[in-house]
Amino acid sequence: MNCYLCRAAIPDGEPFYNDREQQVCKPCFKDAPRCFICRFPGKNLEEVEGLGLECEFCRGSVIGENDDLLAVLAPIFPFLANFGLKAPAQPQFAWVSRAALREMQTSADLPPEEFVDDFLRYCYAVYYNGGTFYCLRRMASPTLIVHGIVQLGVADICGAHGLANLSANSPFHTFARGFCHWVGFEAAKRLTYDLESRQLRKWPELGAQGEFERWESMARFNKQGKIVAFFKANLKALARRHLDDAVPGQSENQTS
Ligand SMILES: [Zn+2]
Ligand SMILES: [Zn+2]
Repeated sequence: MNCYLCRAAIPDGEPFYNDREQQVCKPCFKDAPRCFICRFPGKNLEEVEGLGLECEFCRGSVIGENDDLLAVLAPIFPFLANFGLKAPAQPQFAWVSRAALREMQTSADLPPEEFVDDFLRYCYAVYYNGGTFYCLRRMASPTLIVHGIVQLGVADICGAHGLANLSANSPFHTFARGFCHWVGFEAAKRLTYDLESRQLRKWPELGAQGEFERWESMARFNKQGKIVAFFKANLKALARRHLDDAVPGQSENQTS
């Protein structure tokens, strides 16, 4: 086995770094600059202005600012529909810097971030607010898809209840956010995005994922259809109790 960077043989029993189906010897790994997206000590790192170094593996799988985001996300709309969530017909996207996206989501005093996972630990890479999906510059496509699913769900619920965003912490909000986070988590699992599903199980750390754990444990013992029905019925009741009056859609008076 040879080191990806220096090509020297890595002796048996020596520790090494293993990722991207490549091995990097310990001396190289110790000093190597690393990709800000995946932390891999790439051979061909290129500086992305204002963000950091990007490796040869991430270049290419990363969503660029000229990519058609709707085209990337549209194939997952039927998946959302299975959870009773409807994507907007014409979603508006805006690219924002990490700092700005972080500020939209939390005012907490957080440690400085170097890598994308430092950011994802506290925030979503896609964030819905006031009719726009704000997107992190240079994210990998699995991140866009999974975080996009969460926030498309959020947008649908906001639209149905006349809300600009879902960030407040009433029982209505945490209930609904948890459900959307769980839908994104389920998508990550089914798409075998292992990294993203692991991240969504524990992050964001500041509570943006609401009552996610409740949905995850419910899913262990219940069929999806039953969970979706439970969500719909309870969301309605919680909206009545916890949202300000004059909530659009309340007069429908449907029971099921
Ligand atoms: Zn080496
Ligand atoms: Zn990388």
